Amino acid sequence: MVEDILNDMNPNVDPCQDFSQFSCGGFMNTQEIPVDQATTDYFNILYNDNKEAIRSIVDPLLGKPPSPTSATTKNDETDASQANLLKLQDLYSACMDEDTLAKASRQPILDQLEAILASFPQKTTTTATSGSDIPVNKEVLTKALAQLLKQGLAGFVDIAVITDLVEPLVHTLNLKESGLGLPSKGYYKDIKVVQIYEDTIAQMFQIVLGDEDVVTRGQPFMDTDVKQEWKDAAKDVVGFETQLAAIGTELVDQYDPIKANNPRTVAQLSNLVPSIDWALLLAEILPRGVTNTRPIVAQSPQYLTQLQVILQTTTLSTLRHYITWVAIKGFGPNLGLPYRRPLQFLKAAIAGTSPDLLPIRWRECVTVVNTNLGDMAGHFFIQKFFKGNSRHAAISIIDSLLQTYAQIFPTLSWLDDPTRVGAIQKINAMQKLVGYTTSGPDVASSISLQSYYSNLTISKSDHFGNQLRYAVWEKTREKSQLDQPVNQKKMRDPPQTVDAFYDGQSNHIIFPAGILQPPFFHVDNPEYLNYGAMGVAAGHEITHGFDNIGRNYDYTGRVKNWWTNETEKAFNEKSQCFVNQYGNFSIKGPDGKNYNVNGQLTLAENIADNGGLKQAYRTWQSRFQSDPSGFTYKNFKLPGLEKYTPDQLFFISFGRLWCSKERPEWLMQLIRGNAHPPWRFRANGAVQNSVEFSLAFKCKAGTPMNPIKKCEVW
Ligand SMILES: [Zn+2]
Repeated sequence: MVEDILNDMNPNVDPCQDFSQFSCGGFMNTQEIPVDQATTDYFNILYNDNKEAIRSIVDPLLGKPPSPTSATTKNDETDASQANLLKLQDLYSACMDEDTLAKASRQPILDQLEAILASFPQKTTTTATSGSDIPVNKEVLTKALAQLLKQGLAGFVDIAVITDLVEPLVHTLNLKESGLGLPSKGYYKDIKVVQIYEDTIAQMFQIVLGDEDVVTRGQPFMDTDVKQEWKDAAKDVVGFETQLAAIGTELVDQYDPIKANNPRTVAQLSNLVPSIDWALLLAEILPRGVTNTRPIVAQSPQYLTQLQVILQTTTLSTLRHYITWVAIKGFGPNLGLPYRRPLQFLKAAIAGTSPDLLPIRWRECVTVVNTNLGDMAGHFFIQKFFKGNSRHAAISIIDSLLQTYAQIFPTLSWLDDPTRVGAIQKINAMQKLVGYTTSGPDVASSISLQSYYSNLTISKSDHFGNQLRYAVWEKTREKSQLDQPVNQKKMRDPPQTVDAFYDGQSNHIIFPAGILQPPFFHVDNPEYLNYGAMGVAAGHEITHGFDNIGRNYDYTGRVKNWWTNETEKAFNEKSQCFVNQYGNFSIKGPDGKNYNVNGQLTLAENIADNGGLKQAYRTWQSRFQSDPSGFTYKNFKLPGLEKYTPDQLFFISFGRLWCSKERPEWLMQLIRGNAHPPWRFRANGAVQNSVEFSLAFKCKAGTPMNPIKKCEVW
């Protein structure tokens, strides 16, 4: 471990000049970005490790499957464990079986398209031009949209069941904008990417819908094989999506829970978007026996108003092309290799990876397992890799951070009394989920998991069918929650996930088992290392409860303003400092030009990073100072790291969290549509504001990492 830390560093760089280079320069010089990936960092490295772990569980050909739950437990549990393992192996094997996929050719997606487009006028399934000037018919549009939604595909709108924004124990329907095939709206202004996108659509149309199956005819598929009608159809799709991108709500506003809370009745929606039959749409997408009695929360009424204008001027043929593309883009990756190849080229172009390399299939299939049966696989994952007292030690770190927060609120002079009361109430009510879900399903129980997934049928020889059945099962499961209370104990992600979360609607901080490992955490590490990493991560998630987004939720998870005007004003002024600071960081894009970080879009994460670092340091210091003998808290010296003080090592441990090496395309994707700034700025931005950092490294005032002006909220 000491060696890992030293290898990641570049001690020749002055930490006061560029802390990211000091703590990660070695990492950047020695780590290679995996050929099939856009970036490498500790999140990806651990996630790749976890994928290997899941593979060792679900791949029957590897010959070392986990033993079923131990014989000391009940037989029912053993039986369920064995059945679950088989189900996982079947899902994985079907995905790996390229021969069977190839034999099925394009037929599975043609069958699916027939169902989705059933409401369209007949005999035009494979003709690109029919209906070129007929305006969209309401019933045709509504039924096709419903078919998409039932199969987990979203068109220009998506309807999901969410926790109600003002009643946190009640489910409600949420109407969101959706339907872009590129990662975010900014991409539609990138001529190069848009051209590749359009070519991909045309190629996929030819492969899936062309008269002749160009894949099985024995010659390689060439771009010249694409007929003009499919090129025109692809242009239609891109034109339609470009219109959607232009009316798309900025992400900053999408994340704002007050702006996103617009309850609308079906009658009101019918006024906003008369081109859709909303009553029919709901009747089509809700499972039998489930009724919706509440208004639907529209994320952006403004988007809906403008969508109506677009729909009015869209022809039937454009709509058919668009819906066809949504289905092909969603389910095409489940076809045999030659049929899915253009989609892989597109993905490579966006990620900046080599288009000639085939993605590593077992990794793709583990992703399928993690998506379709994530908690079932997670059961075996935690049995194998989440043992001993890790959980207990991680919880004690999180609890110590929660305590620190409860102590700091009374000391902050810019918080007035009523707001302080709200903040203390909120921190005292904050709950944590650590490791895995214990209810609905209980990931520790094979019987519970077997029952949870019992309605999801998995075939050993039908990958495409498995994916379709999963999509329908998942949407039915989601919509069926409408009648049920919210289960606040359910983690959204399976335990093998390498990430942590704050959920404002339940006021929970969430740490899946996947992140509770080095470099974030190890039970045997000295505390200065654990607090510099896992402690900062815990502080980061807690701070999210009080950032510019999370502060809009009260202690119960309701969207409610518990801030006085005066304190709100102080908060906004303090926040603006971060907007300016991070907005000055820039990266080089794939075109060699500089692009600045969006300080407003990344504000919540930056507030969380800064609060997390500061409060984790404070927590660690007070434990360290209270226990100079090291009898209670471990802060022993590590051989090889003697030249650094414990304070310095705390910050070095923090810096390592953000070691990364990225393709410019990845940085661009972050800048265009991610709430986080590029990792290097997460390290440097936070230490620039840390007085303790500058003291630890004796940085002179005015050096790049110790600017005179410092930003601070929490
Ligand atoms: Zn965050």
